[in-house]
Amino acid sequence: MDEPKSLIQDLESRNHFDTRQKCAFTRIKENMSEDEREAVLKAEESIINDRGSGRARTYSCSWLSGVLIKNGYPISASTILRHMNGRCGCE
Ligand SMILES: [Zn+2]
Repeated sequence: MDEPKSLIQDLESRNHFDTRQKCAFTRIKENMSEDEREAVLKAEESIINDRGSGRARTYSCSWLSGVLIKNGYPISASTILRHMNGRCGCE
């Protein structure tokens, strides 16, 4: 029995888990079929590559959130934006 060591392991793995907890956007994508997930990844690329601003934008986080909500995946534009700016709990 090596109790002190397993205590340290438990504490460290908990920290590890907390800092790497995925955001709602990634969790939603994990529940999709592979085809759907690929389509969402393409949409994310389209958003990144869309050089328009304001109304000139074809692809935006609010567009993507609207499409996902319509298809039964409740996610807000600000959650998508946070994920795409790397300000969420993913990687
Ligand atoms: Zn994320």
